[in-house]
Amino acid sequence: MTDGCDRPGDQLIPYEEAVQKLLQHAQPLTETLTLPVTEALGQVLAEDLQSSINVPPADNSAMDGYAVHSRDLQAGSGQQLQVAQRIPAGSTGEPLQAGTAARIFTGAVIPKGADAVVMQEQVERDGDRITINAEVKSGQNIRRTGEDIEQGAVILQQGCRIRAQEMGLAASIGYGELTVRRALKVGIFFTGDELVEPGRKLAPGQIYDSNRYTLNGLLKSLGCDIVDLGIVGDTLEQTTLALQQAAAEADLIISCGGVSVGDEDHVRIALEQLGELFMWKLNIKPGKPLAFGSIDGTAFLGLPGNPVSVFATFCLFVGPYIKKMQGRSNLAVPLLQVSADFDWPRPDKRKEFVRARLHIDEANNPSATIYPNQGSGVLTSTSWADGFVIVNEGQPIKSGDMVNYLSFKELLG
Ligand code: AMP
Ligand code: MG
Repeated sequence: MTDGCDRPGDQLIPYEEAVQKLLQHAQPLTETLTLPVTEALGQVLAEDLQSSINVPPADNSAMDGYAVHSRDLQAGSGQQLQVAQRIPAGSTGEPLQAGTAARIFTGAVIPKGADAVVMQEQVERDGDRITINAEVKSGQNIRRTGEDIEQGAVILQQGCRIRAQEMGLAASIGYGELTVRRALKVGIFFTGDELVEPGRKLAPGQIYDSNRYTLNGLLKSLGCDIVDLGIVGDTLEQTTLALQQAAAEADLIISCGGVSVGDEDHVRIALEQLGELFMWKLNIKPGKPLAFGSIDGTAFLGLPGNPVSVFATFCLFVGPYIKKMQGRSNLAVPLLQVSADFDWPRPDKRKEFVRARLHIDEANNPSATIYPNQGSGVLTSTSWADGFVIVNEGQPIKSGDMVNYLSFKELLG
């Protein structure tokens, strides 16, 4: 790695610069695999999908009704035609003779000669004769060949994440399987002698390891495979072992806690001994320290231990890094301009990512309220909120000011 430590140790790196630098280092996976479309949900498409067919493949009826030739019908209502054939979906009819109509159903191919479908509600039927009680325009109620997708069109580009909509779209042009990037394997561990797995009783001085569960959820929501090494004690030996094991099995290692420079923080020394490490002090709150580096070609991201900092640094840095490694093409996260429903009179010198909830009023104006306790250990704020309001360095906010809002859903989608 280069340019990781081109700043003197104590200078705080701005958020935007840190994201940009991290992304420069992220190397997209190149291996692919082919999966049935039903198993491709959440994966990243590795090939452009080009359609070899028109969708729909033929002009077809948008209604249950009668296919007619509009020229046979004078303006005005009460006109009669003979029903000469019946065309259900899945079959093709005979060419329509002048002066006749075809009983037709939704999705059935329009017979040659017909140029309109009259919906059945506008028709009175008596035996094989119908009376049409409406004006008929050429082209009405017909879905045109290729109106959704034209033959030869590229409908999905490599790098897109496959949602339910893309599964259906791929199937609509005949793809039963899709070639996707292999899932990113992420090795994770959690440092701290105070940590206990939920389900056990807490002894004095202990707390439950919540970061493990937050991180599992975050990684799953991004479609990653997880190698979870669990809790690692605050010793250099255990930290070194965890890093070695994760490096052997994973494409990316993420640790939580132990990245500061205290006596009980061993991540930095372990990583320096095994590989390369760059420590960053970020000009953001929460989540000041962030470590990144590599061991034998496996990327490493060291997050702080505070639970809210883990969530925030994942949303802001780890998520984009992972998306780039996954080969995703669209890494941009839209910023929403919303009105502040709160005062923030004493801004920090760092850029603050304040846990907030979005509201839309009757006139469709978005505004944000914030959780009352913004402490970096107050995990409740992350569950209450649906996004971050960004408070710029040293800029107080008064109720009614416009502020930038980042949605968790967008950050983690
Ligand atoms: P550290 O970065 O290791 O100094 O930890 C900072 C704070 O986060 C301390 O109060 C830790 O007890 C807490 N912490 C660290 N790891 C976890 C974890 N996995 N789950 C919950 N809290 C944690
Ligand atoms: Mg610790």
